[in-house]
Amino acid sequence: MTTHQQFEADHTSGLYTKRALTIVRGQGATLWDSEGKAYIDCVGGQGAGNLGHANPAVIRAIAEQAGAVISVPEMFYNDKRAALMEKLLSIAPPGMRYTYFSNSGAESVEAAFKFARVKSGKRQIIATVRGFHGRTMGALSATWEKKYREPFEPLVPDFTHVPYNDLAALEAAMSDQTAAVILEVIQGEGGVRPGTAEFLQGAQALCRKHGAFLILDEVQTGFGRTGAMFACEHFGLEPDILCLAKSIAGGLPMGAVLFNERVGKMPPGVHGSTFGGNPLASAASLAAIGYIQSEGLVDRAAELGAWFVERLSRIQSPLIREVRGKGLMVGVELKQKSAPYLQALMNQHQVLALPAGMNVLRFLPPLVIEQSDLARVGDAVEAVLTRPAVSTTVEGTE
Ligand SMILES: *Cc1c(COP(=O)(O)O)cnc(C)c1O
Repeated sequence: MTTHQQFEADHTSGLYTKRALTIVRGQGATLWDSEGKAYIDCVGGQGAGNLGHANPAVIRAIAEQAGAVISVPEMFYNDKRAALMEKLLSIAPPGMRYTYFSNSGAESVEAAFKFARVKSGKRQIIATVRGFHGRTMGALSATWEKKYREPFEPLVPDFTHVPYNDLAALEAAMSDQTAAVILEVIQGEGGVRPGTAEFLQGAQALCRKHGAFLILDEVQTGFGRTGAMFACEHFGLEPDILCLAKSIAGGLPMGAVLFNERVGKMPPGVHGSTFGGNPLASAASLAAIGYIQSEGLVDRAAELGAWFVERLSRIQSPLIREVRGKGLMVGVELKQKSAPYLQALMNQHQVLALPAGMNVLRFLPPLVIEQSDLARVGDAVEAVLTRPAVSTTVEGTE
């Protein structure tokens, strides 16, 4: 361990299991450690990195806006915020009309629940088994994973979980007391599990039938990741409330909630955020979305992702249960724990990837990644999954 690593290890909150790597610089889909060693980035800032590192458009927007004005509360109007609202609504699913800005995914989900309750006058919120929506108390109430939830109970009342992709179970759980249903279009942390058209479209129909709001959590799937600007486009969904964050502002912290006329404008004062909609993040977001559009990153994600899934599917390994994904959101489900293989990818092949659940390798590369780099990732995955006894060659776990 270096002295910097030792200090951080000694004084960090303790919440994060760390990898023994100090990242000091990035460019596109490459990250460099403090020794100057290069890594291919398939962590992608855990989903915040769709634009790649040191993106020129984002750099320029941040620098220019920092010199103009950084912080303007929403009690005032601001040119960059207004321009971003217009941009977001122009790319959003049909019907979106209003925008609320937050600073993270969990904050977007919190706001969505408050909006749903205040506007429906009802309390029940239905989420899904293996769903992940963040770790603040409200978002956590919708999150499934027991290890995240149990130490903090009692959580917010009137949350129910139904199995994902089980329309009959959702139908049975819903009633005229349901305020909202919250869904990921592809479950991310839960293991890169795509929703079926039957389930997602059926859920939307049930929401309409019961006068409940459909909340889509596209915090991870948004901004081109799945080969559509938003994953709901693959299914023609029209959510009432759309939660966004992660890649919204080219890597700067920001979140947004878009909502439609069925939800309607909020009463003044029922929610708010000091940093929400600040001009710095707004300018970064405008530049990021503009870059995604002008560089065709949505189509690029679709094409490269299809190629990558096909490459991974050709790996002959008894360790693999399934390769799945959409666009550049890709998971390899193993028959055993993924942690030793993630370590081997990093230590032996300079490839950084993520877990999803216990036994899925997750790849969220920047959408600007070169195909040659993805090919190297494919070769590396093949090497670690076909070489026997990998777990004896690595130290530590994720
Ligand atoms: C990451 C994530 C969140 C939480 O976002 P934070 O910015 O970490 O609070 C919520 N929902 C989904 C689907 C996510 O992937």
